[in-house]
Amino acid sequence: MVSITRENLELMIELQSAEIDAAGIEAALASLPAQAAALEMQLVEATGLVESRKNHAAELKKKYRMIEADFETSQSRIRKRKTQLDSVKSNKDYQALLKEIDDIHATCSRMEDEMLQCLDDIDAAEAGLAEAENMYAGEKAVIEGKKREYEEIAAVEREKLSQLQAKIRKIVDMLDPALKGKYDNIKSKSGGVAIVSVNGGICKGCHLNIPPQLYNELHRENELRLCPHCYRMIYVL
Ligand SMILES: [Zn+2]
Repeated sequence: MVSITRENLELMIELQSAEIDAAGIEAALASLPAQAAALEMQLVEATGLVESRKNHAAELKKKYRMIEADFETSQSRIRKRKTQLDSVKSNKDYQALLKEIDDIHATCSRMEDEMLQCLDDIDAAEAGLAEAENMYAGEKAVIEGKKREYEEIAAVEREKLSQLQAKIRKIVDMLDPALKGKYDNIKSKSGGVAIVSVNGGICKGCHLNIPPQLYNELHRENELRLCPHCYRMIYVL
């Protein structure tokens, strides 16, 4: 039997509570980078939408400039054919030239329609782009706000953790080293919980009944007892 003072028992209970709290904070702090990365991913998606809409608007403008260049070429062809009209000798050639001019005019008229349609498409694409840029700006503001919030939470939690770590060091300094060794050993084998209370004869660690005699002994003896089922250190309040 290992004897234990009430003081050492209380130190271990306090140590365990501080260690569990510290582990919880460490887990929460460890999850923050992944949460921040998930936020960044949302922003990457919003950037993708802006880029694709920007490209779409640029393509339409390029298309417009190409039609416009063809239109200018056709216009100069019309001007050229018109000057040729004066030097044509036969009526047949004259009619053919007039027909050609008419055909080019018809083509130009179609190109004008296409250019108008293209201008409408450019307007729509630019409105879509502005909408995507607004969405991006809005999302970025929200995400940056959340990231600042995370950083504030992390700073508070880091402070709490450092206080807990100081408390843990202080308790360990005061605790009987042999008990600390036993505590660590049980803790590593029992899911991080080394010491549990027994309430109404039931171990809080495994929720099984402990033998009545052991339960009675717990009330009156200053000896370290282990639960016969889960092998954790047990105590009564
Ligand atoms: Zn137990």
